[in-house]
Amino acid sequence: MADYLISGGTGYVPDDGLTAPQLFANADGLTYNDFLILPGFIDFIADEVDLTSALTRKITLKTPLISSPMDTVTEADMAIAMAKFEQGFITDPVVLSPSHTVGDVLEAKIRHGFSGIPITETGAMGSKLVGIVTSRDIDFLAEKDHTTLLREVMTPRNELVVAPAGVTLKEANEILQRSKKGKLPIVNNHDELVAIIARTDLKKNRDYPLASKDSHKQLLCGAAVGTREDDKYRLDLLTQAGADVIVLDSSQGNSVYQIAMVHYIKQKYPHLQVIGGNVVTAAQAKNLIDAGVDGLRVGMGCGSICITQEVMACGRPQGTAVYKVAEYARRFGVPVIADGGIQTVGHVVKALALGASTVMMGSLLAATTEAPGEYFFSDGVRLKKYRGMGSLDAMEKSSSSQKRYFSEGDKVKIAQGVSGSIQDKGSIQKFVPYLIAGIQHGCQDIGARSLSVLRSMMYSGELKFEKRTMSAQIEGGVHGLHSYEKRLY
Ligand code: GDP
Ligand code: GDP
Ligand code: 5GP
Repeated sequence: MADYLISGGTGYVPDDGLTAPQLFANADGLTYNDFLILPGFIDFIADEVDLTSALTRKITLKTPLISSPMDTVTEADMAIAMAKFEQGFITDPVVLSPSHTVGDVLEAKIRHGFSGIPITETGAMGSKLVGIVTSRDIDFLAEKDHTTLLREVMTPRNELVVAPAGVTLKEANEILQRSKKGKLPIVNNHDELVAIIARTDLKKNRDYPLASKDSHKQLLCGAAVGTREDDKYRLDLLTQAGADVIVLDSSQGNSVYQIAMVHYIKQKYPHLQVIGGNVVTAAQAKNLIDAGVDGLRVGMGCGSICITQEVMACGRPQGTAVYKVAEYARRFGVPVIADGGIQTVGHVVKALALGASTVMMGSLLAATTEAPGEYFFSDGVRLKKYRGMGSLDAMEKSSSSQKRYFSEGDKVKIAQGVSGSIQDKGSIQKFVPYLIAGIQHGCQDIGARSLSVLRSMMYSGELKFEKRTMSAQIEGGVHGLHSYEKRLY
């Protein structure tokens, strides 16, 4: 139907829109709302758009979304949900011995949330497997039976389906599927227990194919540290706990302190990926790249809770900051995180189109079920608290946020953020799929099958932008209605 658009006519295509360098050619700082992307040609479905993108030099994510290191956004629940919880081989499972009791299993269930427990001779890993106990073995036992020994209720070794050490996750999964059991113990050739696999994880693997995992199928996790002496202790603990990425959390990252910290980490833990920042200019980025960072976090004063630009007079509109830093950092293979100021899924697409590899979100993920803190009601609206880490509120409560926003000798605290509340958004299990589908649809309209295609279209000049006047921005929003309801998904 639309043939004439592609092949008919004269072959003449008028030059239209601005390339990225043209968009940022004059010195006006642009925010995400100040421009639009011109649509391209669609010859694929949105579902096919590949959102794989680099977080750091060595770590790749299947979706380009990260939650902010803030005490009202990310604790364990958020981190796990963002990474999509799923285990592969569990190499340090809870194990009991035949002379433990049913009560011990019930206690493990309360403490850890699962009751599928392999039984070995000594009750430790690496000892001979002698049976398994699961919820089905103990569910209907009466109170008086809590002292019953596990050897009496367990399914004994000779009835168990096991897999040999060295089995691949794929083979183990097939065995689990065939055995129709909930757990698969893995044993070495002395019949000693070396790992278990849970059926629930197999299902999660199917349900969450986008989970971000390392080569051992462990979820990826990053954590933030400051640049003080005592942050080195936190760094040690985080490394022991298996953190894959360390984020150096400073509002102005171009400092001797951060450069020294990058050197320190790279020397002590060469395998650790280090993200430096925050930066908003190529000159700031240069120092951190020279110091050896594996990724950069970009944004200063663009966060929803942020008053840095008002107070410090420093900062940069986020569209310009992302473009300028990404355009410089890509020459060194250093990916950029667009951090802060993301209000809609369209902003995510714009950040990625300006060269960011991933986006970091605070307010967008705050007030979800997985965000820390309890809901409360105000004027009949269900809310959760959301506050800047540089707000007085956060600094008075947490010494780590003080460090990000203060210098040691400061007598007067200068707030760089505010404390507020956000309306309940439900679970990120629904919200993140909406974001993912939204990004895919945005890329489809642009004509980019993947985020790497999107970036190369931008750098080649094929991707065209246009500035938006104030009235264009009004036209681009809902307007002229008496009333309306905005349901997003
Ligand atoms: P169960 O049937 O009560 O054991 O529970 P499920 O198999 O449904 O869920 C157990 C979840 O906890 C799975 O996602 C496991 O990967 C996870 N898990 C983590 N550590 C352990 C462990 O030491 N033992 C067991 N059984 N599960 C663990
Ligand atoms: P649940 O669904 O979490 O209770 O656990 P499972 O499906 O793993 O176990 C159900 C029953 O089968 C329990 O009585 C287990 O002790 C037993 N069982 C677990 N694994 C095996 C196995 O490999 N072989 C046999 N014969 N029984 C097993
Ligand atoms: P949002 O997604 O809410 O727009 O922005 C979140 C980002 O704002 C965080 O990732 C962090 O970089 C930044 N941020 C968090 N707290 C503060 C603060 O108190 N002051 C400033 N200037 N930035 C903050």
